[in-house]
Amino acid sequence: MESLRWQVGDATVFRIADVDATAALQGLIPKFNPAAVAHASWLTPDFVDETGRLRGMVQAFLIMIAGQLIIVDPGVGNAKRRVAVPGWDNLRTDFLGRLRSAGVEPDEIDFVVNTHLHFDHVGWHTQLVDGAWQPTFRSSRYVISAGEFGYWHSKPANQIADQHAGFSDSVLPVYEAGLVDLVADDHVVTEGVQLLPTPGHTPHHVSVMIESGEQSAVITGDVMHHPCQIAYPDWGASDFDASQAQSSRTRLIQRFADSDTLILGTHFADPVAGRIRREGTTFRLIPADEL
Ligand SMILES: [Zn+2]
Repeated sequence: MESLRWQVGDATVFRIADVDATAALQGLIPKFNPAAVAHASWLTPDFVDETGRLRGMVQAFLIMIAGQLIIVDPGVGNAKRRVAVPGWDNLRTDFLGRLRSAGVEPDEIDFVVNTHLHFDHVGWHTQLVDGAWQPTFRSSRYVISAGEFGYWHSKPANQIADQHAGFSDSVLPVYEAGLVDLVADDHVVTEGVQLLPTPGHTPHHVSVMIESGEQSAVITGDVMHHPCQIAYPDWGASDFDASQAQSSRTRLIQRFADSDTLILGTHFADPVAGRIRREGTTFRLIPADEL
Protein backbone atom coordinates (compact mmCIF):
# COMPACT_ATOMS: atom_id res chain seq x y z
CA MET A 1 0.00 0.00 0.00
CA GLU A 2 2.12 2.79 -1.31
CA SER A 3 1.53 6.34 -0.27
CA LEU A 4 -0.06 8.11 -3.22
CA ARG A 5 -0.78 11.80 -3.64
CA TRP A 6 -1.97 14.11 -6.35
CA GLN A 7 -2.04 17.85 -6.91
CA VAL A 8 -5.36 19.46 -7.95
CA GLY A 9 -4.64 23.17 -8.38
CA ASP A 10 -3.65 24.37 -4.93
CA ALA A 11 -5.19 21.31 -3.27
CA THR A 12 -3.16 18.22 -2.37
CA VAL A 13 -4.96 14.88 -2.12
CA PHE A 14 -3.49 11.86 -0.32
CA ARG A 15 -4.70 8.27 -0.48
CA ILE A 16 -4.96 6.86 3.05
CA ALA A 17 -5.24 3.08 2.68
CA ASP A 18 -7.27 1.00 5.12
CA VAL A 19 -7.58 -2.60 3.87
CA ASP A 20 -7.48 -4.63 0.67
CA ALA A 21 -10.88 -5.12 -1.01
CA THR A 22 -9.96 -7.75 -3.58
CA ALA A 23 -11.80 -10.56 -1.77
CA ALA A 24 -14.84 -8.34 -1.21
CA LEU A 25 -15.06 -7.46 -4.91
CA GLN A 26 -15.35 -11.06 -6.10
CA GLY A 27 -18.97 -11.69 -7.00
CA LEU A 28 -20.01 -8.10 -6.21
CA ILE A 29 -20.55 -7.20 -9.88
CA PRO A 30 -22.89 -9.91 -11.22
CA LYS A 31 -22.44 -8.99 -14.90
CA PHE A 32 -18.64 -9.22 -14.66
CA ASN A 33 -17.28 -11.77 -17.10
CA PRO A 34 -13.73 -12.56 -18.25
CA ALA A 35 -14.50 -12.31 -21.98
CA ALA A 36 -15.77 -8.75 -21.66
CA VAL A 37 -12.79 -7.82 -19.50
CA ALA A 38 -10.46 -9.22 -22.17
CA HIS A 39 -11.99 -6.67 -24.57
CA ALA A 40 -10.93 -3.91 -22.17
CA SER A 41 -7.30 -4.97 -21.98
CA TRP A 42 -6.32 -1.73 -20.21
CA LEU A 43 -7.84 -3.17 -17.02
CA THR A 44 -5.03 -5.75 -16.73
CA PRO A 45 -2.83 -5.97 -14.69
CA ASP A 46 -3.52 -2.94 -12.45
CA PHE A 47 -7.25 -3.46 -11.92
CA VAL A 48 -7.69 -7.11 -12.89
CA ASP A 49 -4.95 -9.57 -11.99
CA GLU A 50 -3.50 -12.28 -14.23
CA THR A 51 -5.97 -14.83 -12.86
CA GLY A 52 -8.92 -12.61 -13.82
CA ARG A 53 -9.76 -11.43 -10.31
CA LEU A 54 -10.94 -7.88 -9.77
CA ARG A 55 -8.47 -5.97 -7.59
CA GLY A 56 -9.58 -3.27 -5.17
CA MET A 57 -9.00 -1.31 -1.99
CA VAL A 58 -10.77 0.31 0.90
CA GLN A 59 -9.16 3.73 1.15
CA ALA A 60 -9.93 7.26 2.24
CA PHE A 61 -8.82 10.49 0.61
CA LEU A 62 -7.28 13.30 2.63
CA ILE A 63 -7.74 16.71 1.01
CA MET A 64 -5.59 19.68 1.99
CA ILE A 65 -7.13 22.84 0.57
CA ALA A 66 -6.84 26.48 1.67
CA GLY A 67 -5.67 25.49 5.15
CA GLN A 68 -8.54 23.02 5.64
CA LEU A 69 -8.10 19.27 6.20
CA ILE A 70 -10.87 17.03 4.92
CA ILE A 71 -11.04 13.25 5.00
CA VAL A 72 -13.51 11.41 2.76
CA ASP A 73 -14.88 7.92 3.62
CA PRO A 74 -12.59 6.68 6.37
CA GLY A 75 -12.67 2.93 5.84
CA VAL A 76 -13.81 -0.13 7.76
CA GLY A 77 -12.17 0.84 11.07
CA ASN A 78 -10.55 -1.24 13.76
CA ALA A 79 -12.12 -3.68 16.20
CA LYS A 80 -15.50 -3.57 14.41
CA ARG A 81 -17.60 -6.74 14.33
CA ARG A 82 -17.97 -7.24 10.56
CA VAL A 83 -18.74 -10.71 9.29
CA ALA A 84 -20.20 -10.03 5.83
CA VAL A 85 -16.79 -9.81 4.14
CA PRO A 86 -14.07 -12.39 4.88
CA GLY A 87 -11.00 -10.64 6.29
CA TRP A 88 -12.76 -7.46 7.46
CA ASP A 89 -13.89 -8.63 10.90
CA ASN A 90 -12.15 -7.17 13.97
CA LEU A 91 -9.45 -5.40 11.93
CA ARG A 92 -6.20 -3.94 13.25
CA THR A 93 -5.05 -1.70 10.40
CA ASP A 94 -2.55 1.15 10.61
CA PHE A 95 -4.94 3.67 9.05
CA LEU A 96 -4.14 6.39 11.60
CA GLY A 97 -0.41 5.73 11.19
CA ARG A 98 -0.80 6.32 7.47
CA LEU A 99 -2.69 9.54 8.19
CA ARG A 100 0.18 10.65 10.43
CA SER A 101 2.63 9.75 7.66
CA ALA A 102 0.87 12.44 5.62
CA GLY A 103 1.70 14.83 8.46
CA VAL A 104 -1.80 14.98 9.97
CA GLU A 105 -3.03 14.11 13.46
CA PRO A 106 -6.67 12.94 13.78
CA ASP A 107 -7.51 15.97 15.95
CA GLU A 108 -6.44 18.31 13.14
CA ILE A 109 -9.11 17.13 10.69
CA ASP A 110 -11.69 19.88 10.03
CA PHE A 111 -14.29 17.87 8.08
CA VAL A 112 -15.08 14.17 7.67
CA VAL A 113 -17.20 13.68 4.55
CA ASN A 114 -19.24 10.60 3.64
CA THR A 115 -20.29 9.58 0.15
CA HIS A 116 -22.78 7.23 1.84
CA LEU A 117 -23.13 5.33 5.10
CA HIS A 118 -22.15 1.76 4.22
CA PHE A 119 -19.95 0.22 6.88
CA ASP A 120 -16.77 0.28 4.76
CA HIS A 121 -17.00 4.09 4.49
CA VAL A 122 -17.69 5.12 8.09
CA GLY A 123 -15.53 2.77 10.18
CA TRP A 124 -12.85 5.18 11.37
CA HIS A 125 -15.47 7.67 12.55
CA THR A 126 -15.07 5.95 15.92
CA GLN A 127 -12.54 3.96 17.91
CA LEU A 128 -13.07 1.58 20.80
CA VAL A 129 -11.80 3.42 23.92
CA ASP A 130 -12.44 1.95 27.39
CA GLY A 131 -15.15 -0.27 25.93
CA ALA A 132 -17.08 2.53 24.21
CA TRP A 133 -17.13 3.87 20.63
CA GLN A 134 -15.54 7.31 20.77
CA PRO A 135 -15.18 9.83 17.90
CA THR A 136 -11.77 9.52 16.22
CA PHE A 137 -11.78 13.00 14.70
CA ARG A 138 -12.84 14.94 17.79
CA SER A 139 -12.36 18.46 16.40
CA SER A 140 -14.11 17.68 13.15
CA ARG A 141 -17.54 18.27 11.70
CA TYR A 142 -18.87 15.02 10.18
CA VAL A 143 -20.66 16.01 6.96
CA ILE A 144 -23.47 13.60 6.02
CA SER A 145 -26.38 13.89 3.57
CA ALA A 146 -29.54 14.48 5.61
CA GLY A 147 -31.45 12.11 3.32
CA GLU A 148 -28.85 9.38 3.65
CA PHE A 149 -28.79 9.73 7.44
CA GLY A 150 -32.58 9.60 7.60
CA TYR A 151 -32.66 6.47 5.45
CA TRP A 152 -30.26 4.58 7.73
CA HIS A 153 -31.81 6.00 10.89
CA SER A 154 -35.05 4.26 9.91
CA LYS A 155 -33.04 1.00 9.64
CA PRO A 156 -34.50 -0.58 6.50
CA ALA A 157 -35.07 -4.27 7.05
CA ASN A 158 -33.65 -5.29 3.66
CA GLN A 159 -30.09 -4.32 4.57
CA ILE A 160 -27.49 -6.77 5.82
CA ALA A 161 -26.57 -6.90 9.49
CA ASP A 162 -23.14 -5.31 9.07
CA GLN A 163 -24.75 -2.15 7.67
CA HIS A 164 -26.90 -1.84 10.78
CA ALA A 165 -23.82 -2.40 12.93
CA GLY A 166 -21.89 0.23 10.98
CA PHE A 167 -24.60 2.81 11.60
CA SER A 168 -24.82 1.90 15.28
CA ASP A 169 -21.14 1.77 16.20
CA SER A 170 -19.70 4.31 13.75
CA VAL A 171 -22.38 6.89 12.84
CA LEU A 172 -24.68 7.18 15.86
CA PRO A 173 -21.84 7.86 18.35
CA VAL A 174 -20.61 10.90 16.40
CA TYR A 175 -24.21 12.05 15.90
CA GLU A 176 -24.93 11.75 19.62
CA ALA A 177 -21.69 13.64 20.35
CA GLY A 178 -23.11 16.56 18.34
CA LEU A 179 -20.42 16.34 15.65
CA VAL A 180 -22.66 15.67 12.62
CA ASP A 181 -23.84 18.29 10.12
CA LEU A 182 -26.80 16.95 8.13
CA VAL A 183 -26.62 18.64 4.73
CA ALA A 184 -28.14 18.81 1.25
CA ASP A 185 -26.80 16.43 -1.40
CA ASP A 186 -25.09 19.33 -3.23
CA HIS A 187 -23.62 20.91 -0.09
CA VAL A 188 -20.45 23.03 -0.30
CA VAL A 189 -18.15 21.62 2.40
CA THR A 190 -15.60 24.40 2.06
CA GLU A 191 -14.50 26.55 -0.85
CA GLY A 192 -13.36 24.13 -3.58
CA VAL A 193 -15.00 21.01 -2.13
CA GLN A 194 -18.64 20.25 -2.95
CA LEU A 195 -20.92 17.20 -2.84
CA LEU A 196 -22.13 15.95 -6.23
CA PRO A 197 -25.38 13.94 -6.09
CA THR A 198 -24.90 10.44 -7.58
CA PRO A 199 -27.85 8.51 -6.09
CA GLY A 200 -28.64 4.84 -6.62
CA HIS A 201 -26.02 2.76 -4.82
CA THR A 202 -27.76 4.13 -1.74
CA PRO A 203 -30.74 6.53 -1.81
CA HIS A 204 -28.64 9.67 -1.23
CA HIS A 205 -25.22 8.60 -2.41
CA VAL A 206 -22.95 11.52 -3.34
CA SER A 207 -19.56 11.90 -4.98
CA VAL A 208 -17.16 14.69 -3.97
CA MET A 209 -15.89 17.40 -6.35
CA ILE A 210 -12.59 19.17 -5.73
CA GLU A 211 -11.99 22.35 -7.73
CA SER A 212 -8.98 24.63 -7.45
CA GLY A 213 -7.87 27.08 -10.09
CA GLU A 214 -8.30 25.45 -13.47
CA GLN A 215 -8.03 21.93 -12.09
CA SER A 216 -10.58 19.51 -10.70
CA ALA A 217 -11.02 16.00 -9.36
CA VAL A 218 -13.95 13.84 -8.35
CA ILE A 219 -13.95 11.22 -5.59
CA THR A 220 -16.30 8.54 -6.87
CA GLY A 221 -17.57 6.88 -3.73
CA ASP A 222 -19.48 3.77 -4.81
CA VAL A 223 -21.14 5.24 -7.91
CA MET A 224 -18.61 2.81 -9.34
CA HIS A 225 -16.69 0.18 -7.39
CA HIS A 226 -14.22 -0.80 -10.07
CA PRO A 227 -12.81 0.68 -13.32
CA CYS A 228 -14.48 -2.14 -15.32
CA GLN A 229 -17.68 -0.13 -14.79
CA ILE A 230 -16.15 2.68 -16.86
CA ALA A 231 -15.84 0.23 -19.76
CA TYR A 232 -19.26 -1.24 -18.92
CA PRO A 233 -21.43 1.37 -17.12
CA ASP A 234 -24.39 -1.03 -17.07
CA TRP A 235 -22.48 -3.33 -14.69
CA GLY A 236 -24.07 -2.64 -11.31
CA ALA A 237 -22.87 -3.70 -7.86
CA SER A 238 -25.50 -4.51 -5.24
CA ASP A 239 -27.11 -1.11 -5.70
CA PHE A 240 -30.18 0.05 -3.77
CA ASP A 241 -31.77 1.23 -7.04
CA ALA A 242 -29.97 -0.41 -9.96
CA SER A 243 -31.35 1.78 -12.76
CA GLN A 244 -30.78 5.01 -10.82
CA ALA A 245 -27.23 3.88 -9.99
CA GLN A 246 -26.59 3.10 -13.64
CA SER A 247 -27.80 6.50 -14.77
CA SER A 248 -25.71 8.25 -12.10
CA ARG A 249 -22.67 6.27 -13.22
CA THR A 250 -23.29 6.93 -16.91
CA ARG A 251 -23.84 10.65 -16.28
CA LEU A 252 -20.59 10.92 -14.32
CA ILE A 253 -18.59 9.06 -16.98
CA GLN A 254 -20.01 11.17 -19.82
CA ARG A 255 -19.56 14.43 -17.92
CA PHE A 256 -15.87 13.85 -17.23
CA ALA A 257 -14.88 11.92 -20.37
CA ASP A 258 -12.13 13.68 -22.33
CA SER A 259 -11.80 16.31 -19.62
CA ASP A 260 -8.85 16.97 -17.33
CA THR A 261 -10.89 16.08 -14.26
CA LEU A 262 -9.03 13.51 -12.21
CA ILE A 263 -11.11 10.48 -11.20
CA LEU A 264 -10.20 9.24 -7.70
CA GLY A 265 -11.71 5.79 -7.25
CA THR A 266 -12.75 5.05 -3.69
CA HIS A 267 -12.28 1.31 -4.22
CA PHE A 268 -9.86 1.42 -7.18
CA ALA A 269 -6.62 -0.54 -6.85
CA ASP A 270 -3.32 1.29 -7.38
CA PRO A 271 -2.73 3.60 -9.20
CA VAL A 272 -6.23 4.63 -7.92
CA ALA A 273 -6.55 7.78 -10.08
CA GLY A 274 -6.95 8.51 -13.76
CA ARG A 275 -8.77 10.39 -16.46
CA ILE A 276 -11.65 9.05 -18.55
CA ARG A 277 -11.17 8.91 -22.29
CA ARG A 278 -13.60 7.91 -25.02
CA GLU A 279 -12.45 4.93 -27.02
CA GLY A 280 -14.80 4.34 -29.94
CA THR A 281 -18.20 3.70 -28.41
CA THR A 282 -16.79 2.94 -24.97
CA PHE A 283 -14.63 4.55 -22.29
CA ARG A 284 -11.38 3.80 -20.50
CA LEU A 285 -9.39 5.13 -17.58
CA ILE A 286 -5.93 6.51 -18.29
CA PRO A 287 -3.91 6.28 -15.06
CA ALA A 288 -2.75 9.65 -13.80
CA ASP A 289 0.77 10.60 -12.87
CA GLU A 290 1.03 11.27 -9.21
CA LEU A 291 3.33 13.84 -7.64
ZN1 LIG B 1 -17.88 0.68 -0.49
